[in-house]
Amino acid sequence: MNESATSAGWYQRATAVMPGGVNSPVRAFKSVGRTPPFVVSAAGAHMETVDGETLVDFISSWGALILGHARPEIIDELVAAARRGTSFGVPTSGEVELAELVVSLIPSVEVLRMVNSGTEATASAIRIARAATGRPGIIKFEGCYHGHADPFLVKAGSGLATFGEPDSPGVPAATVADTRVARFNDLETVEKAFGAGDVAGLIVEPVAGNMGVVPPEPGFLEGLRDLCDRHEALLIFDEVMTGFRVALGGAQERYGITPDLTTLGKIVAGGAPAAAYGGREDLMRMVAPDGPVYQAGTLAGNPIAVAAGIACLRYLVEHPELYDTLEDMGGRLEARLTAALEAAGGGGCVQRVGSMLTVFLGPDVVRSWEDAAKLDRERFSRYYAAAFDAGIVLPPSPFEAMFLMEDHGPVIDEAAETLAAAIGAA
Ligand SMILES: *Cc1c(COP(=O)(O)O)cnc(C)c1O
Repeated sequence: MNESATSAGWYQRATAVMPGGVNSPVRAFKSVGRTPPFVVSAAGAHMETVDGETLVDFISSWGALILGHARPEIIDELVAAARRGTSFGVPTSGEVELAELVVSLIPSVEVLRMVNSGTEATASAIRIARAATGRPGIIKFEGCYHGHADPFLVKAGSGLATFGEPDSPGVPAATVADTRVARFNDLETVEKAFGAGDVAGLIVEPVAGNMGVVPPEPGFLEGLRDLCDRHEALLIFDEVMTGFRVALGGAQERYGITPDLTTLGKIVAGGAPAAAYGGREDLMRMVAPDGPVYQAGTLAGNPIAVAAGIACLRYLVEHPELYDTLEDMGGRLEARLTAALEAAGGGGCVQRVGSMLTVFLGPDVVRSWEDAAKLDRERFSRYYAAAFDAGIVLPPSPFEAMFLMEDHGPVIDEAAETLAAAIGAA
């Protein structure tokens, strides 16, 4: 094989012209100490690499894919839309249809605005919360990820529920001065964070997925709703990952909690780049040009992404049984991997909500970032390598979720055996 045409060859070229050789840090595969595979194409549950390998994919575009790669139901619509033109900068009927679909599926979303990324969606939602309340403070949870906008790049300070400090150079301390950090599944820290009395809103992944899968404990989300009401602050569910995944109506449907604002991304555009934020009509009417809160986007509501989103959401509406299928697949995978962990000794747990699943090697339960941080990174790298060598590509970080797609159906039991063996080998 021509060396320069391998993943290693491409990665070398990539690092010369891109930071870390990638357009998003985790793709550099640093935390598993490997050269990232370069993908040529993918179909169903499988990715083909430039090295000629076929891998069963559980990254699933970080959850953006719920059916499978290159599904004709989506691709046909996307291609047809592209042939009609890639961007117009004036309204299209598809934007209305997608907005109507989202509004019909998520009752708390009465009005919505489309943007290009989850990062934009969360930053815009916070802007509304601050505008609506006239207060600056926001509360977020350690281990939850809301994209890379400045106010969210905060690590917990010396004590939780205190003011955080910037998590990245280039983020001025003043920008995060109003961001308070609390502990997931710990309402006491949330109450403390409300202490200063200046909180505009609280943002949370209702099922945490960006520290590995951490389900909300019974009463936690109810408690957040309560505290926000008591302090007249907005409750913002960041459902960029969980929306249309843990239930058709997202985590808010699954757990029966109504947020004031919701952010969406990933599945909402069926694997194309788009996202959205929405919620209570009185709040969303504050957005320009109905109201004074400015937010705009040259490519927002892009017709190609919108066509993919409509096709994906329509498929989900027409196949509600898919969620039972995913639950069943997830349950079988969880059971097999839990048994493998027990057989291996050394501790660990499998945490799952629907089609999101994480194997934590080390801790016996993960309720918050504090627990997640204790996992065994070396053991994860060995597990990762064993899985990869057996033809499975997992998300290349121990703090991520595996995402099941409909197309995993035919391969899930065999993959479970392979992963169980990888746990044993780690
Ligand atoms: C992926 C993700 C984001 C960021 O979305 P981008 O499109 O990558 O900007 C925000 N919040 C959550 C919960 C996510 O999973």
